[in-house]
Amino acid sequence: MHVELHPLFAGTAEGKAARDLTSACVHCGFCLETCPTYLDSRDERDSPRGRIYLIKQLLETGAASGQTHRHLDRCLTCRSCETTCPSGMQYGRLVDIGRGLMEQQVPRSTYDKSLRWLLRFVLSRPRLFATALAMAQTVRPILPLSLRDKVPLRQPRKPLPARQQARIMLVLEGCAQNAATPNTNDAARRVLDRLGITLVGAPRAGCCGAVNYHLAAHADGLDNMRRNIDAWWPYIESGAEAIVSSASGCGSMLVEYGELLAADTAYAEKARRVSGLTRDIGEILLQEDLRSLAVDTDVGKVAVHTPCTLQHALQLPDLVSGILVRAGFELAQTTDKHLCCGSAGTYSILQASASERLRDDKLKALSGDAPALIATANVGCQLHMQAAADIPVVHWIELLDTRTATT
Ligand code: SF4
Ligand code: SF4
Repeated sequence: MHVELHPLFAGTAEGKAARDLTSACVHCGFCLETCPTYLDSRDERDSPRGRIYLIKQLLETGAASGQTHRHLDRCLTCRSCETTCPSGMQYGRLVDIGRGLMEQQVPRSTYDKSLRWLLRFVLSRPRLFATALAMAQTVRPILPLSLRDKVPLRQPRKPLPARQQARIMLVLEGCAQNAATPNTNDAARRVLDRLGITLVGAPRAGCCGAVNYHLAAHADGLDNMRRNIDAWWPYIESGAEAIVSSASGCGSMLVEYGELLAADTAYAEKARRVSGLTRDIGEILLQEDLRSLAVDTDVGKVAVHTPCTLQHALQLPDLVSGILVRAGFELAQTTDKHLCCGSAGTYSILQASASERLRDDKLKALSGDAPALIATANVGCQLHMQAAADIPVVHWIELLDTRTATT
């Protein structure tokens, strides 16, 4: 696809990057049938190809309408289209740039701007989010049912390992996960401890930057990334083996630090190092002998939901199911594995009805083989599905955090 840049964008790095990315699309349309929003609306403007055309139009004319905003907003950034595309289109990168340019050219309503600002402000500040969640959990019993379902129950905590192992890895604490599902990283600490690895958190690290970056607040997102790099650097220099993420949404942001900060001379090299050291927790366990964990596998059939960030962004579609099978769990048959559950960061709040339709479809696709529980790899998907599921939805690492009675 050829793009003639409008003078507004001709001299800008983002304009040139968007032009180069757009040129990879050969408008074959293979991506349409694997795009959840196109399957939902059957409107070409809600498809990857349609959105690429809308961004091309913006790049060439320097102008766009509220319609363009609407169709870009409806994109989940699930990147299912990237997995399907025979031409290697980097759609996720293009839509992030396109959204940033749109934000500069087409003003949003005051309500829209305020809601987005509020989401960015609260979700990217772990302590503030934890306080807001704790308050919501306190009044949860008296909330109307529709709101109650959205507030996760407090998780009871179990003791953490006290010893320090010789092998050290950094853990990304995250913002939502640390407050809403603290059991995930607690379980990760216990499981890795049994494998001879201690997970340490850097107190000054915070949000990975995804909330700001994917809501087109690029400067704030990049600042989040620089802050994390500063917080992690002393540990990296002291020999931390990896930066472990148990939320694939955050992990997929970390692996992009190198590219996103490539033009920042003070941070480019460190950012590349951070991206190179980033591992999903499943990638760590793949290297270890899981038999030594002696896991209690008697939980019934497990339906695995592989988040889009794990299968399309990190390109690890079989990671979770492979580990659970190796550990001895029986997996339930599922369908439409490539489709998004509708969580997609802030999408479940900003595009609530589409998000709920996608969740209903996903729960149906996961439930056909009568599973006892659903296991996923990202906090957003876990909370979103749990709000409507009638079986438990857990992070898969929690399943490895149980020992059989004989051990
Ligand atoms: S599959 Fe790839 S090349 Fe074909 S229309 Fe979609 S994005 Fe473009
Ligand atoms: S990222 Fe997902 S929702 Fe967006 S265009 Fe691609 S397949 Fe469709």
